[in-house]
Amino acid sequence: MMAQKRIAIYGKGGIGKSSTASNVAAACADQGHRVMIIGCDPKSDSSITLLGGKRIPTILDLLRQKIDVTEKDVVFEGYKGVKCVEVGGPEPGIGCAGRGIIVAIQKLSKVCESMKDMDLIIYDVPGDIVCGGFVAPIRKGLVNEAYILTSGEYMPLYAANNICRGLAKINTPLSGIICNSRSVTREEEIVRKFSEEIGSKLMAFIPKEQIVQDCERDGFSVLEKASDSSVASVYRELANAIMNNDSSVMPAALEDARLRELTR
Ligand code: SF4
Repeated sequence: MMAQKRIAIYGKGGIGKSSTASNVAAACADQGHRVMIIGCDPKSDSSITLLGGKRIPTILDLLRQKIDVTEKDVVFEGYKGVKCVEVGGPEPGIGCAGRGIIVAIQKLSKVCESMKDMDLIIYDVPGDIVCGGFVAPIRKGLVNEAYILTSGEYMPLYAANNICRGLAKINTPLSGIICNSRSVTREEEIVRKFSEEIGSKLMAFIPKEQIVQDCERDGFSVLEKASDSSVASVYRELANAIMNNDSSVMPAALEDARLRELTR
């Protein structure tokens, strides 16, 4: 039996983590893998495109309402049987996102027996890993592979570089870089070079295609709504690359001057 993969995708806010996570989940389910996606973003939109546009209740919201949560309250089956869970966000101004994620996941693992049977669990985590709270899932051993999503622009790469620093600090290797294109000049070359220089590898280059947004707006993954599109094949290749990936490295973050030079 294959070991359970529990991956987290980090990256600058707004870079496309949720859309990448849900499309990878759908592609893996298409290939017959048992997949769970755990959305940890307060916007709780990680699973919406796997559920035909439907929003599901979040674990933290239910816990705040003092509901004695069971599996059927928080685990919803979406496209090709993908199990969808949304952690939800902390209360604005008071809660801690990292702490909230841990509370919710601990509750989930207590009530959800089927979690153990998954081949792949994807944690769609918020933030740029600049604070200790966001690395909580790694620290608690919930995650065994970390990926970084970036584009070839300076700011997302700056965030990616910082995430590398954060991972090295907590002694966690990086399993690969994924480029979500913003149609920047020489983008693939820039992100490939960045990946190599930090000691890692580029897992996939996802082209910027309107079809991704169109499917998302309609409440579907590309794999479901536009399975013949070329970008659907890219997600399939990325899903394969992740499922077959067994290498990781301690990333060596670049000096800022080098990062600027790379993106110039
Ligand atoms: S530790 Fe991080 S997630 Fe928690 S409150 Fe502070 S900034 Fe937010």
